Amino acid sequence: MSAHSVRRVHSGHPGGSDPGATPAHGAFPVAITNHGASATLEIRWADGGSSLLAHGLLRASCRCAACVALRRAHRPVAEAAAAIRLTHAEPVGQQGLNLVFSDGHGRGIFPWAYLRELGVAQP
Ligand SMILES: [Zn+2]
Repeated sequence: MSAHSVRRVHSGHPGGSDPGATPAHGAFPVAITNHGASATLEIRWADGGSSLLAHGLLRASCRCAACVALRRAHRPVAEAAAAIRLTHAEPVGQQGLNLVFSDGHGRGIFPWAYLRELGVAQP
């Protein structure tokens, strides 16, 4: 019997030794790497998948109150975001990732499940 549990698909029960500490859906990171040269944020997930997220996409996808209000006012957040770079990424407990951008914006907290949705899954 292998000690490794690489994939746990279609199992509604996490079965870990630490119930309640891990968010649902397996969307929990084991490694976060900010690639400055390619302007992408790479997240490797606990279930073995990974996401590659462009800095501009992340900036345009910010869900903080200010950005949501801008989008409601039909401001072109996405276009302005193309040249913006991610300068800092800070995990916020079990919630997600606080991202700080080169335009000075750093109020958005991106939930893990949201980051996973945004990224391209690479098994
Ligand atoms: Zn924002």
